[in-house]
Amino acid sequence: MKSPPPVKKSSIAEVSALAARFAGAGHAAGFRLETFGAAEGCPLFALTKRTTGIHPRIYLSSGMHGDEPAPPLALLRLLERGFFGGQATWFLCPLLNPAGLARGTRGNADDVDLNRDYRHLAAAEVRAHRGWLQRQPPFSVTLSLHEDWEANGFYLYELNPENRPSLAQPIIDAVTAGCPIDQSAEIDGREARGGIIRPIADPLLRELWPESIYLRVHHTTLTYTIETPSGLPLEQRIAAHCTAVETAVARL
Ligand SMILES: [Zn+2]
Repeated sequence: MKSPPPVKKSSIAEVSALAARFAGAGHAAGFRLETFGAAEGCPLFALTKRTTGIHPRIYLSSGMHGDEPAPPLALLRLLERGFFGGQATWFLCPLLNPAGLARGTRGNADDVDLNRDYRHLAAAEVRAHRGWLQRQPPFSVTLSLHEDWEANGFYLYELNPENRPSLAQPIIDAVTAGCPIDQSAEIDGREARGGIIRPIADPLLRELWPESIYLRVHHTTLTYTIETPSGLPLEQRIAAHCTAVETAVARL
């Protein structure tokens, strides 16, 4: 059986420094910092930016799995580039699992996979994050950024129960230029086509909820989980995430 390749460990001090960089870049870009908890002394936080007028409300998250370094770095890059402007109202949760990121592990310090915990709430990080989510308005779309060490290329999950205009194919088309797409007929045990997975099972029947199911049930009618293949160079994965986010936002 394959096991994940070792991921470079950092330290809680380095993760706290990354959190501080998010705070500084967020402040410079007009975001409000909302701290909703802590893990091993590192803050759990959201960055929000309300834009006046009628705009989509876009939620983005990363850092749920500590062995997936590209997604937080992609959101930081977009933030530092000034990407999050007046085209939307923004809700960013970029570092959801600081303890895991410090250890280079999928789970948190207690080895809980946070992305299976949004129904039963075993982890303090998920309880804190869900508490924050419950204070937010409905989101027009949510993008949860992840990586997959078993994938042959980029792929995504879409939950779109009301058949809204899909962002899936535009994202795939945009990412293709810089990153291979996983063309497998089955990815992560699910039927896939051209790098797109559209799970059809009733989420309410699922025992363990990832963040995306919780968001789809309580906060939005359109969710994407974006996955880059961990085997590719980090820079290529960061760029693929940036392209995916830019494409989704431009299409809304
Ligand atoms: Zn993940």
